[in-house]
Amino acid sequence: MEAVIEDAARLILSAEYVVALTGAGVSVESGIRPFRGPGGIWTERGEPSMDGYRRIMADPKAYWENRLRPRSRRGFGISLADAKPNPGHLALAEMEEMGVLRALITQNIDDLHNRAGSRNVLEIHGNRTKLRCVSCNARFPFEGFDLSELPPKCPECGGFVKGDTVMFGEPIPVDVLNRCIEESEHSDCMLVVGTSAVVHPAASLPLLVKRSGGHLIEVNPMETELSPLCDVCIFAPSGEALPILVSALKRLKD
Ligand code: ZN
Repeated sequence: MEAVIEDAARLILSAEYVVALTGAGVSVESGIRPFRGPGGIWTERGEPSMDGYRRIMADPKAYWENRLRPRSRRGFGISLADAKPNPGHLALAEMEEMGVLRALITQNIDDLHNRAGSRNVLEIHGNRTKLRCVSCNARFPFEGFDLSELPPKCPECGGFVKGDTVMFGEPIPVDVLNRCIEESEHSDCMLVVGTSAVVHPAASLPLLVKRSGGHLIEVNPMETELSPLCDVCIFAPSGEALPILVSALKRLKD
């Protein structure tokens, strides 16, 4: 594995603009179960209803009343609120701190990249700790938001506010989607970590990098559909591989 990681480090250091794309695999080592694939919550219980977003838009008050109802744990391996960043998250934050990584696009909603210290984080599917206005896309921390009136109103425009997490049937917010596309088009090296990147729109982002002549580095425990397209494949859990990658980057940088 060390030799492959060394190859990845050289590729990263020779690139102008490195971007990471992460998915559920990064958070598995924090005890968060993935939705899809082996051991996934949806694999076990079936996918949630496809019309969640339509129902919210039809009756936002009912959505909020349901959301605020106390309930038992919802079946994540451990409670999302108790999960902590793992060495994979921390290594990505360190790569940004070193000036090596410019942006981090994630499909995860668990807030762990932010908590690990990453700054330029683009959350394609939203963030569970935030709320978002359905009219103007302004985002607010869930904690402390005025919920005395349901559905709560956006302080910016008066539109109604829902959880920032993107639901089935809900379009990806255009502001985030456009920034993900811009960062990918700008990138000449993408690190794809903990995701097979088969779900759109994330799936198209590595292809944008590849199409403009850039390189792809994959970090996944097993081969994925993306592997044949990648220049370097590191088949290991991100919590193991990324700290070694950071050490290699530091060594080669000097
Ligand atoms: Zn608004």
